Amino acid sequence: MKTIDDINFSGKRALIRVDFNVPLNEKYEITDPTRINAALPTIRKILADGGSVILMSHLGRPKGGPEHKYSLSHLVPFISKALGLKVKFADDCIGESARTLASSLKPGEVLLLENLRFYKEEEKGDEAFAEKLSKLGDVYVNDAFGTAHRAHASTAVIAKFFHNAKMFGYVMGNELASIDRVMKNGEKPFTAILGGAKISGKIEIIENLLPKVNHLIVGGGMMFTFIKAMGGHTGKSLVEEDLIGLAAEILEKAKKLGVTIHLATDALIADKFDNEANRKVCPAGEIPEGWMGLDIGPKTVADFRQVIHDSKTILWNGPMGVFEMSNFENGTREIALAIAEATANGAYSLVGGGDSVAAVNKYDLADKVSYVSTGGGAMLEYIEGKELPGVSFVLA
Ligand code: AMP
Repeated sequence: MKTIDDINFSGKRALIRVDFNVPLNEKYEITDPTRINAALPTIRKILADGGSVILMSHLGRPKGGPEHKYSLSHLVPFISKALGLKVKFADDCIGESARTLASSLKPGEVLLLENLRFYKEEEKGDEAFAEKLSKLGDVYVNDAFGTAHRAHASTAVIAKFFHNAKMFGYVMGNELASIDRVMKNGEKPFTAILGGAKISGKIEIIENLLPKVNHLIVGGGMMFTFIKAMGGHTGKSLVEEDLIGLAAEILEKAKKLGVTIHLATDALIADKFDNEANRKVCPAGEIPEGWMGLDIGPKTVADFRQVIHDSKTILWNGPMGVFEMSNFENGTREIALAIAEATANGAYSLVGGGDSVAAVNKYDLADKVSYVSTGGGAMLEYIEGKELPGVSFVLA
């Protein structure tokens, strides 16, 4: 796997696909710069070698033409400050002005291109558009893990135009190494923790995980489909009726593979979907009519904590309950804490997927787990065992 450590960028213009799709407030200020900060080491390495950098990204979901609110110009002050230099800006990602600015870059200079998705061709993976972009740099670096599961012009197709000059940046390299470490070389016992609202969308992940893990902890809304499959009473809890049969099959398959599936034994239930609802703890398979489970109960927390503490490799995706509501966040917080404690005791932990990442940030634990994935969708597809175009086109 070729990475930016394999070459010296002196005198080269590196065209880097970054994931600068950051949230902005109404004043166009960045409210969470995690993705930009993640790409800084890649940029710094190239500049330190004596190369110059051309950054390209998408931002938001423009309708296929320029929209001021999605302009990458909003990011220039932040990136300039972070790098301690004045970042140049091209108000069109292709065309005469981008070409002139790119070709006149001097070593140590950085140019940011306007939003790639102002062209419909980007998401279509249009070859002619990718070729125009490719003319801007001597070397292509893909460092956008968040879009690596998309075969877009700038994330994949463009790599065709850089024969021996295409590689991964540190974000891509670290993300892939971290997932590979868990999925391919994880020290046992390996525990995967899945939560969130639904099983649908996570079926392929479960199927790919089962042959690899020793323990599968299932929390969140998705546990109730399993509990119902085992004959439990789930009241008004979230249940995917059409997936009850599949949940039963997964339980059966796990048994055959020697994987222990841990489901909640008690649940914190509520009489409505509201933080101020009446609530009580009851056995997870004996939820009264009219009540719904919105978090795992205290006995379950203790049991799950024990499994996590005994693990050497941990993968976490999805909250244990409706953690956005303070009265139902305990399970998610306790599981996040247990993962941090296990990590301190030598386990390797990977956290990924929007809500689990939000949870570790909420509880200030991001630096107490081994790795926090910046790309939710891409990480999940990689865990499902799918090929990521952002990876395969660079390796081709
Ligand atoms: P997902 O996008 O499938 O990972 O689901 C994340 C969402 O699941 C979060 O917004 C949680 O509030 C929600 N969630 C977790 N547990 C439950 C539950 N027991 N009932 C309903 N929603 C839940």
